[in-house]
Amino acid sequence: MRQTQRPVTVVTGGSRGIGAAICARLAADGHDLAIGYRSDAAAAEAVARTVRAAGAACVTVAVDTADATSVDHLFTTTATELGPVTGLVNNAGVRGPMGRLADADPDEMRAALDVNFLGYLLCARRAVQDMTGTATRGAIVNISSAAATLGGPGEYVHYAAAKAAVDGMTIGLSKELAADGIRVNCVAPGIIWTEFHADPQRPAKRAAAIPLGRAGQPEEIAGAVSWLLSADASYATGTIMRVAGGM
Ligand code: NAP
Repeated sequence: MRQTQRPVTVVTGGSRGIGAAICARLAADGHDLAIGYRSDAAAAEAVARTVRAAGAACVTVAVDTADATSVDHLFTTTATELGPVTGLVNNAGVRGPMGRLADADPDEMRAALDVNFLGYLLCARRAVQDMTGTATRGAIVNISSAAATLGGPGEYVHYAAAKAAVDGMTIGLSKELAADGIRVNCVAPGIIWTEFHADPQRPAKRAAAIPLGRAGQPEEIAGAVSWLLSADASYATGTIMRVAGGM
């Protein structure tokens, strides 16, 4: 096992979009990283190359965050390859079925909820098991969404509700873990340019409804995540930081 004083941070969904930008930023800010991805090993490896070029140690691990055994494998591999886990970015998420709730397929909706909420609980559960009782104080950042308060009507009420649950989980867990020295915070992005959207032009089409007049870039989320994981945020826990262009 590699001995290190650098933070060791697990980022789920690190192969693309916001997660990939978070990995690049955390590597630049001194973290060693476990990049969790579901299916796109080549994309994860491309992110890993960027991370290593910044001087960080890195491992890529295939994981289904909705599956407890798979999550255990992610964290065990990370600890074996990089050392004790000190941070988690709960980022892996899916859009799920689009449209009105009345038309949503129950199985598709359940599969989305399993990733968007149960997966966050499973990853946080295992991270806390690993972090509790260690000398290093840990930190968790959950990626929620502005949809948690906007509601996603006509698009994905189930997704927005799962993100509201992530906000609630952040508050509860932050209080549960404060005495253990583990901080738990949340970043709630607005509309960001990634491959997440069913209509690739949705970020442009929604720009007029965003007070700053444009959708955001993944890198504009990554900085907030890095700050919440850093010592500069030592007094921040239970925070839901909205980074949504004013939405
Ligand atoms: P994205 O580009 O679609 O990337 C999703 C990532 O999650 C990929 O790395 C994917 O891995 C991974 N993933 C999906 N299902 C998984 C599973 N079951 N287990 C493990 N990994 C899984 O999405 P994004 O836009 O970057 O979104 C990242 C987070 O930000 C999500 O939680 C999303 O809800 C949230 N968010 C996004 C926006 C936005 O406008 N984009 C706004 C607010 C919040 P593979 O590539 O290997 O499949």
